[in-house]
Amino acid sequence: MELLKNKVAMVTGGTRGIGFSIVKRFLENGAAVAVCGSREETVNKALAKLKEENPDWKVIGMSPDLQDPQAMEEAVAKVKEAFGSLDIMVNNAGISARDKFLEYKPEDFKKIMDLNVNAVFVGSQAAAKVMKEQGGGVIINTSSMVSIYGQPAGVGYPASKFAVNGMTKSLARELGRDHIRVNAVAPGVTRTDMVAALPEEMVQRLAASIPLGRVGEPEEVANCFLFLASDLASYVTGEILSVDGATMT
Ligand code: NAD
Repeated sequence: MELLKNKVAMVTGGTRGIGFSIVKRFLENGAAVAVCGSREETVNKALAKLKEENPDWKVIGMSPDLQDPQAMEEAVAKVKEAFGSLDIMVNNAGISARDKFLEYKPEDFKKIMDLNVNAVFVGSQAAAKVMKEQGGGVIINTSSMVSIYGQPAGVGYPASKFAVNGMTKSLARELGRDHIRVNAVAPGVTRTDMVAALPEEMVQRLAASIPLGRVGEPEEVANCFLFLASDLASYVTGEILSVDGATMT
């Protein structure tokens, strides 16, 4: 079943990890997708991989500055020009850091807020303008399990994801009348490059503390984006969906 037939999506941080899995799930379900990455080179690599898998997939790539409102409006306009609309905006690009609080540099705090929070604001605004004109749409943000519990180091990252949740819940309430649904997915530890780089022993230790007994796979996270993007979730908005195997810390 193609859950996103005739839909058009834009996915930031779509070149690898969770974002790349979201792009694939959306394409497999009939959507046309614009993949955003931080560099043209990585975007082209991702596009080549996707085209190799299925040359018929409708996919384009771009690398706009996610924090620049004009660049994002232009990027959204390009998507509309290529595919006719923008129905689903996924604000997924994000960075993390684990610096101890007393050593945390203010410029690093700002850097994490700039991408994890400001870019979500800018991307949502550029998308919502078009969605309102169109008569509706869906915005999905990538949060994290740390937005529920905080974490014992690297305060910028959990602070940024709490902000993402706040923006998600507030925009859901503000944009509901425009038929724009706004939700977030809060993954737990997920096997992306970041986790693959950890020693297997550490991954095993992490997994043992998770009730489901393992870390998550990017595809399992992407499935939740698919659900929220599709009409199966037509009455779901303002929700932060945890995908973390019931992790408790
Ligand atoms: P990743 O590092 O594998 O991918 C990050 C993506 O963001 C890449 O596509 C990259 O191009 C893009 N990106 C990074 N900096 C950018 C910038 N300055 N401008 C534009 N794009 C930029 O990360 P991931 O693990 O797939 O994480 C994706 C999202 O999931 C993030 O928001 C992250 O906070 C969240 N998350 C990840 C995990 C996990 O365990 N991997 C857990 C919870 C939440």
